[in-house]
Amino acid sequence: MAKLRFTALEELLNRDTKKVEGTRIPTSDYFGELVFDRPKMKKYLSKDAFEHVIEAVEKGTRIDRRMADQIALGMKAWAMENGATHYTHWFHPLTDGTAEKHDAFLTFGEFGSMVESFSGSLLVQQEPDASSFPSGGIRNTFEARGYTAWDVSSPAFIVGSTLCIPTIFVSYTGHALDYKFPLLKALQAVDKAAVEVCQYFDKNVTRVISNLGWEQEYFLVDEALFQSRPDLVLTGRTLMGHSSAKDQQLDDHYFSSIPERVIAFMEDFEIEAYRLGIPVKTRHNEVAPNQYEVAPIFEETNLANDHNQLVMDVMKRVARKHKFHVLFHEKPFKGINGSGKHNNWSLSTNTGVNLLSPGRNPKSNLQFLTFLVNVLKAVYDNQDILLGSIMSAGNSHRLGANEAPPSIISVFLGSQISAMLDELETRVPDKKMTPDEKTALKLDIGKIPEILLDNTDRNRTSPFAFTGNRFEFRAVGSSANCASAMIALNTAVANQLKVFKTEVDALIDKGLKKDEAIFQVIKEYITYSKNIHFDGDGYSEEWVKEAAKRGLVNVSNVPEALKAYLSDKAKKLFSENGVFTEVELEARTEVELEKYTKKIQIEARVLGDLALNHIVPTAVRYMNTLIENVQGLKDIFGKESDYQELVSDRLDLIKQISNHIQYIKNKTNDMVEARKVANKIDDMEKKAEMYDQKVRPYLDDIRYHIDKLELSVDNGIWPLPKYRELLFAR
Ligand code: ADP
Ligand code: MG
Repeated sequence: MAKLRFTALEELLNRDTKKVEGTRIPTSDYFGELVFDRPKMKKYLSKDAFEHVIEAVEKGTRIDRRMADQIALGMKAWAMENGATHYTHWFHPLTDGTAEKHDAFLTFGEFGSMVESFSGSLLVQQEPDASSFPSGGIRNTFEARGYTAWDVSSPAFIVGSTLCIPTIFVSYTGHALDYKFPLLKALQAVDKAAVEVCQYFDKNVTRVISNLGWEQEYFLVDEALFQSRPDLVLTGRTLMGHSSAKDQQLDDHYFSSIPERVIAFMEDFEIEAYRLGIPVKTRHNEVAPNQYEVAPIFEETNLANDHNQLVMDVMKRVARKHKFHVLFHEKPFKGINGSGKHNNWSLSTNTGVNLLSPGRNPKSNLQFLTFLVNVLKAVYDNQDILLGSIMSAGNSHRLGANEAPPSIISVFLGSQISAMLDELETRVPDKKMTPDEKTALKLDIGKIPEILLDNTDRNRTSPFAFTGNRFEFRAVGSSANCASAMIALNTAVANQLKVFKTEVDALIDKGLKKDEAIFQVIKEYITYSKNIHFDGDGYSEEWVKEAAKRGLVNVSNVPEALKAYLSDKAKKLFSENGVFTEVELEARTEVELEKYTKKIQIEARVLGDLALNHIVPTAVRYMNTLIENVQGLKDIFGKESDYQELVSDRLDLIKQISNHIQYIKNKTNDMVEARKVANKIDDMEKKAEMYDQKVRPYLDDIRYHIDKLELSVDNGIWPLPKYRELLFAR
């Protein structure tokens, strides 16, 4: 015991020595030290138990109860040596962020003594009191039970004094109540479908892995200023604030040197991330003042997503120590760039091949083109679903604005790939190929260089861009759980690959050679999917018109975009691929619509509150000062001929302020009335629409007048920190 305690203490002390007086010990020395990863499993588990877990991770087999007890014991021993006293099932409910409920390892032992215990059943499954997590009606109150179940594929880790076990969260009836469960199903679907297609090219492929590399953008705001802005505290964004004289016009923040206090914060959160096995790699300033980005080395999608959620949490905690607050909201400041979370996505095989990377020879390039074109078609056929997957109250401020992916989904391919597809389209004959034709084609596709030039020459305005060896889904919002986008994308691609396989097999049955059949189907897809392919400026007016001509979906209205999940197509897609049942889809859409409604409702309340309790009284105070001033001038100069001229500017100002006040008061009252009407509606779809159409417009309308007042009212009495402070204090 003494030994154990000593180790734990030593470990605790160690935590502060990763950075001593500015020098850091090499990251590789402590990377993943708080993760129960394979080397640690090997050390703490019996050979049987270790092999059992690995098999479960790799083959998806079930964990046997007896083994679970052994694994739990090993995990507990490791966790306690590292200072853990509690454990929790860590999951991704349909709210923002993750959830956890900590339990101590403590139980009564013999004769009333205390012992630490942790059993296999506690590791594998739990029933958190989760009745207040959103379920979209799946769990009516008498069956309010929800279960969490261990996700063996994502290793347990320690945060503070708690052992965290990644889990899925399902209802009593087995329906998913979280992001992880359907994500795992989507990954399984794409694995299966992609392996079958890979079999055309390489019989050794038995597993296809979906990869995700997220780029997380965020703002930092000084903690004290943050706390003085109730709108930031309660809604994550500023509901008012006139633009600063200087903001991002000079583009002098992007990639510039990182301020010292910010670097100190970054270093500290990176250390915490490394200890948790999160391979963060890139950090830089973004376009807007006080906006930054962090990106890791990509990982398998499920793990990468856990890491993204975890890193967001770590950043929030570490920021406090540096007296910063991290904003993950998609649009915290009006008129300033918003934040996204690019989802870099690819598929790779157990044989180590990236299926979206051009290869060295015609065979690997045919495989590459197969996957590329299938993704293209999957995106075309499911643009509405992909758009729905990234829509939220926060992200709607970004989409359609001039600095972010538009609300039209299109795919950027770059000049080389585009040329290649054009060539294939014209070259592949509609009949059996002659040996010469085959050779010519093979020579052509053999030409795709392994490193594409377009890799560096990127189109930043495309919501879905091919970037050399992966696709980058850029429309994802910075606060989002990547799972939502990844579920949609992987399911759409899985489904498409199944269709492809059926079509190719049919041609083979008709007597075509395998390659010919593949060429034929790819060619058809290229022609069919042309409308989704767009390499131009996605922010331009012309594109909006052109996209309409092409019949592409263009929706920036959140409730409408979310409803894409209720279409027959969506129900068929998700149920046939075993990702969501119809009940789950309906429930999730309801949850999303409700989330949207509540966010607008909260924003409206906060704005109303600030307008009436902060802004109007301040403006009245200032107006009274002006009135006093005019009155005083009248006493002194009232009888002189130029008196009117002397006070005219102040009289104008008094009128202006008075008009703004009146407008703000009237509109705030109207907004309250609009809310009352909307609140009476029971149907969630209609309610969300009402909030979108009848309540939301007041936010900008009222804000306009508040921002005008900010310009004229005495700075000394203005009750809220201004943009120039929020954006430039560092
Ligand atoms: P940029 O900002 O230029 O788009 P970054 O280097 O900031 O690029 O981020 C790119 C992200 O893409 C990183 O997380 C990286 O690991 C990831 N990535 C690179 N290759 C792949 C791939 N084949 N599949 C998935 N993600 C990838
Ligand atoms: Mg990128």
